[in-house]
Amino acid sequence: MSKKNQNLFETECNEAIIFARVSSEKQEKGASIDAQKECIYEYCKSKGLKIIKEYIITESTMRGDRKQYKEMIDFIKGRKQKTAIVVNCVDRLQRSYSDTPILDDMRKKGKIEIHFMKECLILSNHSTGMDILFWNMCVLMANSYVLSLSDNVRRSLEYNWAKGKWQGLAPLGYLNTRDNKGNAHIIIDEERAPIIKRMFEEYATGLHSAQSLLTFATHLGLTARTFGNTNRHPHPLNYNTVYEILRNPFYYGVMKVKGKLIPHIYDKIIDKKLYDRVQLILEAKSIDREFLAKQQKYKTRKFAFRSIIRCGKCNHFMSPDCKIKKNKMSYVYFRCYNNCGQPSANSKTLLNQLDNEVFSKFYISDDDFIDISKSVINHNKHSHYIKQEILIKFLILIRDLSYIMKEANAGMQNEILTILLKDCSLNGKTLSYNLRSPFDKLLVSQLSDWKDIIINNIKDLDAIEYNIKALNLVERK
Ligand SMILES: [Zn+2]
Repeated sequence: MSKKNQNLFETECNEAIIFARVSSEKQEKGASIDAQKECIYEYCKSKGLKIIKEYIITESTMRGDRKQYKEMIDFIKGRKQKTAIVVNCVDRLQRSYSDTPILDDMRKKGKIEIHFMKECLILSNHSTGMDILFWNMCVLMANSYVLSLSDNVRRSLEYNWAKGKWQGLAPLGYLNTRDNKGNAHIIIDEERAPIIKRMFEEYATGLHSAQSLLTFATHLGLTARTFGNTNRHPHPLNYNTVYEILRNPFYYGVMKVKGKLIPHIYDKIIDKKLYDRVQLILEAKSIDREFLAKQQKYKTRKFAFRSIIRCGKCNHFMSPDCKIKKNKMSYVYFRCYNNCGQPSANSKTLLNQLDNEVFSKFYISDDDFIDISKSVINHNKHSHYIKQEILIKFLILIRDLSYIMKEANAGMQNEILTILLKDCSLNGKTLSYNLRSPFDKLLVSQLSDWKDIIINNIKDLDAIEYNIKALNLVERK
């Protein structure tokens, strides 16, 4: 702000022009020119304002109306001092937003103050956002569209919407309440709002259907609201509720009123970026579910058993699902979304089963490892059947399997399980599977036979060569 402007900003305002408007046909009581003028004179006196000019408009002459209004603006612009415009009420000065920008610009520059007597509102360059909001709301009320509404309730709705207030039942994740003055208010539902947020975040991963998201939310403890003894039926939680939640912009700060989005005054639960991402996924899902499923499979988060376990009942692939328990820990479950009755299984439990039955059984002492490796690598040197790099990785994988699986992240676990397992299905909480060759033969053989088994089945490593090559193995400490 320049020094020159600052001076203008701080100029005291002690000169006023008055602006009055009256309908020539309806000289309603208290609205006549004389009555209006009298009120304004008294007001200016009480505020210490000297009246320097009067603009009186008779409504029937529309052309004269605009002409005088423009004259007034030009008059103010031509003055060096700050000028107060004093009017009886907002609808005397302006009936539409079109006049607002010019008036607001002059206000911000400290050229004018506007005194709305009836509304007890003085607008100056010091006005707060609430004052400006109130002014805009009054202009909305003065707008002929609103005035033409005879219904008081409707007017009150417009009034509240303009102030960013929601009417009626708050969306799930919020609660209707009353502030200390007894006015209706909406606050965050501390119990449900975090779950609503998690639902958006989970859905944004692209892994969920509405049904799986509902399961997720229900596990987190999301319930419908009950409304005490009122007759209102709580909205049952079903996948339609999920869609309602995911499509409601209220959570990021705007409310939908008659097809329009209006910013509301309540706390937000999510940001717009997350909301927009969810809308994209909702749209993509409705366009092509199958396409998205393929996309997800390759692009999203990794899970140990993803694309590995089939349902023992219906043969569908089982899908990952995350659960947050009371201790805030996240658990991965695999479930069948085919509604076949197959119970879900904890990923960790399945890994423990495999560790007991497979991983830990492959243990080799360092001496045996060196002995076996020497023979196998030497044999391969002559046959050139497989790259030495692959063979060494394969040997280290066997030696450290239990350790590697415990240390690995889900993506690596998934790669190793792909190398080890085939025909993997879940029956109840137990995994049924076959091991790929040569792991299957090694598991049931004496250590002394391992050299021969590996050498004789070395061609089987061909099928999993790329998987082994991709492994980023960390040697046992
Ligand atoms: Zn199934």
